[in-house]
Amino acid sequence: ASANSAAPTIFDKIIAKEIPSTIVYEDEKVLAFRDVNPQAPVHILLIPKARDGLTQLSKAEFRHSEILGDLLYTAKLVAEKEGLKDGFRVVINDGLDGCQSVYHLHLHLLGGRQLKWPPG
Ligand code: 5GP
Repeated sequence: ASANSAAPTIFDKIIAKEIPSTIVYEDEKVLAFRDVNPQAPVHILLIPKARDGLTQLSKAEFRHSEILGDLLYTAKLVAEKEGLKDGFRVVINDGLDGCQSVYHLHLHLLGGRQLKWPPG
């Protein structure tokens, strides 16, 4: 994967509904859908519909503050909707060391089992 901010990713096709996904939440700004390779009983990705150069967290600029907050708050709403009453985890993988594979910023929402800490 590369971090070219202009390059479209698979998530653009998911937003455009050109490839199928299981959408669990959608509003004007945020889309949440189930990860195709789930690492927990609940594994949902939350993404901004407009990437606006936000390929990864380390590239965030001040103008992205609002969408970053929206994503985090939406993660809480989706966790509630998924019945994760005993807790959950939100993760952002950044860059090579963070094992980021899709360069369209996304939050992972994981839950539905006892998660281990620290992660690998
Ligand atoms: P990253 O490693 O970049 O933090 O996470 C990317 C995530 O996107 C991975 O967990 C991967 O399973 C998921 N993913 C990649 N392609 C698709 C896809 O086409 N559909 C869905 N639903 N998830 C995908």
